[in-house]
Amino acid sequence: MVTLNRREFLKLGIFSLSYLMNCSAESDRNKKYLNLLINSTKKVIILGGGISGISCARALKDRGYENVTILEARNRVGGRIHSLSYKGSALDLGAAWIHGYKDNPLTPIANKLNLGLFPTDDNSVIALQEGIGLLPEELVDGYELAYENILDLAQNVRFPDKSRKEVIQSINGGFFDNPVFLSMYSAGEEFNTGGDATEISSAYFDSDGGFSGGDVVIPSGYSLLIDNLKNGLNIRLNQVVSSVNRVGNGFKVISNGEPIASDIVVCALPLGVLKSGSITFSPEISSKKKDAIQKIGVGAVNKIILEYPYVFWDESRQYINYFSSTKGKFSYIINLKSYLPFNMLCGITTGKYSAELDSKSDISNKNEMHSILKSMYGNSIPDPINSFVTHWSTDPFSLGSYSFQKVGSEPIHYEELGKTEPPNLFFCGEHTNEAYRGTVHGAYLSGLRVADEIKNTVF
Ligand SMILES: Cc1cc2nc3c(=O)[nH]c(=O)nc-3n(C[C@H](O)[C@H](O)[C@H](O)COP(=O)(O)OP(=O)(O)OC[C@H]3O[C@@H](n4cnc5c(N)ncnc54)[C@H](O)[C@@H]3O)c2cc1C
Repeated sequence: MVTLNRREFLKLGIFSLSYLMNCSAESDRNKKYLNLLINSTKKVIILGGGISGISCARALKDRGYENVTILEARNRVGGRIHSLSYKGSALDLGAAWIHGYKDNPLTPIANKLNLGLFPTDDNSVIALQEGIGLLPEELVDGYELAYENILDLAQNVRFPDKSRKEVIQSINGGFFDNPVFLSMYSAGEEFNTGGDATEISSAYFDSDGGFSGGDVVIPSGYSLLIDNLKNGLNIRLNQVVSSVNRVGNGFKVISNGEPIASDIVVCALPLGVLKSGSITFSPEISSKKKDAIQKIGVGAVNKIILEYPYVFWDESRQYINYFSSTKGKFSYIINLKSYLPFNMLCGITTGKYSAELDSKSDISNKNEMHSILKSMYGNSIPDPINSFVTHWSTDPFSLGSYSFQKVGSEPIHYEELGKTEPPNLFFCGEHTNEAYRGTVHGAYLSGLRVADEIKNTVF
C-alpha cells in the first residue's frame, strides 16, 4: 500500500520527474511506476454502486489506487442486479441472465465462484392466447415464420426519425392488431431493447452486439458476482448524491447534504437518474452530453413473481408465451420451477404497459398477473401464497430499466454519454456502452474502461 502525505508526494513527484527525464532508456517502465505512485494517492469518488461503479472501483484498487470510495444511495449495492434472499435461495428481481456465456467476461468470474450456471432454452415454451387457450405448436411455428419474414423486411427500412412500430406497420398493416405478432414483438424486441415499439429507433434498434454460446442464469443469485467483486472496497451505503461541483483542481460532491472532497469523480449513475435532473453539475456538463442524456431512451421492463402452493402449469417447459391484444402484457412468463425449488412463475411486462403497471400498487399488479393466469388455466387455480413486484421505472434510483436507441438518437449519442468531461469527471454505466447496452456485461466493461482512462490520464 502506498500512503504519502501531500508534502512527501510533491517531493517525490518533483524528484522522480527530473530523474525520469534523464533516464530515457528506462523511462517507459519508470513512467508507469511514477504514474501509479502519483495516481494512487488521488482521491476517487464513484457515484453509484451498481456493477459499473463496482467494476471500476475493483479495477482501480487492483491497480494500486487506495483512495477509492463508492457512494451508493440504496442500503445495498448492485443497483439493477438485485437478488432477494428467499428461503435459502435467491430471486433475481433485476438482471438474471448472463447473455452469451461463452465469451461473456462475467462467465470466468461465475465459474471461479462455482455458481452452477443453468442454461435456458427459448424453445422450451408453450403458447397460450388470450380468450382461446393453448395453441398447437405447428400453428405457433407458422406464426413465427410469418413474424420473422415481416421483421426481415422491416430490417431494411431504416429512418432515424421513424419508430419500429411505424416501419413494421408500413410493411404489414395488421401486425400490431394481431395478438400473436404483437406479443412475439414484446417478448423479443421490447424485452431486449427495453423500449416501447412506438419509441424504438428503426435506424439503430439493433446497433448493439452480443456474445456466443446461449444464455445462462445463476440459480443461486446474480448478486453473488457483485459480492465477489466488492470484496475489500470502500463502499458507503445510504448516500444520496445530489451535486458534483468543481472546486480548484478537484471536486466537492454533495451527498446527504454534506460535502465530500475528491480529485476524481466517476459518475456510474443510471441514465434515468441523469435524465431526471436530480443530480446537478457545477459548472454544467457539456451541451453535447446533455443532449445525449435527453436523446438516448430508457424504457420500462418489470417482473412480477407469483408463488403458488402447487404447480398447475406445464412444469416441463421453461417458458409460457402469452398472446394478448395488449402490447407488453405478460407476453413472456418464466417458469422459475425449472431451476429454483419453488412453485413460481415470473411474468415480464414491457413498454408502455409496463410503465403503466409501474405506477400501480403491488397488490394491483399481483392481481393483474393472477387474473391472466386464471384466464389461461381456469378459475380453479389456487391463490398465490407470495408475490414480488418490481417498479424499476419509478424507483428513484433507477428511473428506468435499461437504455435503448430511441427515435432521433444516433450512435454518437452513446459515445457522448461515455466521454470524460475534462478534467477528471468520468462516466460509466450500461448506457455508456452501445455495443453491449442494457446488459450487466456492458455495464461491467464500461467500469473497466473508465479505470483504464483514469490510469492513463496524465495530470
Ligand atoms: C428487470 C430487468 C431485467 C434485466 N435483465 C438483465 C439480464 O437478464 N441480463 C443482463 O445482462 N442485464 C439485464 N438487465 C440490465 C442490467 O441489470 C443493467 O444493465 C446493469 O445492471 C446496469 O448496471 P449499472 O452499473 O450501469 O447501473 P445500476 O445497476 O443501476 O447502478 C447504478 C447505481 O447508482 C445508484 N444511485 C442512483 N442514484 C443515486 C444517487 N443519487 N446517489 C448515489 N447513488 C445513486 C443506484 O442505487 C445503483 O446502485 C436487466 C435490468 C432490469 C431492470
